[in-house]
Amino acid sequence: MLEFIEQELAALKQANLYRSLKTIEKIEGSKIVIDGKELVNFCSNDYLGLSQHPKVKERAIEAIKEFGTGSRASRLVCGNTILHEQLEKKIAQFKGRESAIVFPTGYMANVGTITSLVGENDTIIIDRLNHASIIDACRLAKAKLQVYGHRDIVTLEAILKRSAKFAKRLIVTDSLFSMDGDIAPLPDIIKLAKEYNAITMIDEAHSTGTLGKNGRGAEEHFNTEEQTDIVMGTLSKAIGSLGGFVAGSKPLIDYLRNKARSFIYTTALPPASCAASLAAFEIIESDDSFLASLKHNEKLLKADTPIIPIITHDAERTITIARQLFERGLFVSGIRPPTVPEGESRLRITVTAQHSKEEIECLVSSLRQLIPA
Ligand SMILES: *Cc1c(COP(=O)(O)O)cnc(C)c1O
Repeated sequence: MLEFIEQELAALKQANLYRSLKTIEKIEGSKIVIDGKELVNFCSNDYLGLSQHPKVKERAIEAIKEFGTGSRASRLVCGNTILHEQLEKKIAQFKGRESAIVFPTGYMANVGTITSLVGENDTIIIDRLNHASIIDACRLAKAKLQVYGHRDIVTLEAILKRSAKFAKRLIVTDSLFSMDGDIAPLPDIIKLAKEYNAITMIDEAHSTGTLGKNGRGAEEHFNTEEQTDIVMGTLSKAIGSLGGFVAGSKPLIDYLRNKARSFIYTTALPPASCAASLAAFEIIESDDSFLASLKHNEKLLKADTPIIPIITHDAERTITIARQLFERGLFVSGIRPPTVPEGESRLRITVTAQHSKEEIECLVSSLRQLIPA
């Protein structure tokens, strides 16, 4: 009965779409060790390097000593500690909103939020290149899904125009696109949402800590603070820990605490993760040198964000180049379908505050050799 599994795996291998795990044996700053080989890591989402910061680690250790390793129940039962509460307050303040709620992951934040906000009589309108967790949330939600082209405001307006019959219209977009490194046209989206009376939700997973003068996200980057209804993000990227969050009005957050199934029916984040995130936010707020180093490194790569895609189209070519970079001591992820559309395979380079000028120059010269213009 289970032959299909082996057949499917063989088909994935045949199409160069098979995935396997790489095992990290050691982490030291921008470097990692895999199979005993030291590599400069160009695929981490720890953009500011805060997962390795001594103060962040220390606060997590203190929390383990005080509260233990697990949170022992869901938030609404007895998994809610003072650290969860402090973290939610900090996030609300950081995002300039009345209130915030944390979920165990960003994936769960998207799933719980979207499925609890819209139903049968509603429609969700999304960018074609939104993150998989948004797509999965839309599949679970009973609302009608409508997709516009990447950053295509004209089509978004056309969809809004013909969607008056729906009770609620929810526009959801990544603010900094995870595989493309470009930014959603937030001011235009906000304007259209106001005009057509739609709800707006932005996913600031990659922009929290990396965009805007103080790293507060795309909203700060565009000076459109507090103009979207729902701000979602993750604590697992620039914040260096684990967890997802939503910030917004008090009633919105209260509603999610009562309705979001991925908040209610799962164990709370470990207290140590909350403590680590709290420490990371405090560092971001008090010391701008991490963001300054990140911006400096982005400039060395002539980029405006820390995510730099190099489109290689073909899956086989992509893994070949990734392997050649690996041999040169550079760890870059080759991204293939279904993470990106067919024919849009790419090397996804992420730069962080921790990279040195020499490491970046080595990457650039290797890419020039391996991918002649
Ligand atoms: C990573 C990511 C998520 C999921 O966050 P996790 O905390 O890793 O589950 C959601 N949305 C986007 C755009 C992401 O890049």
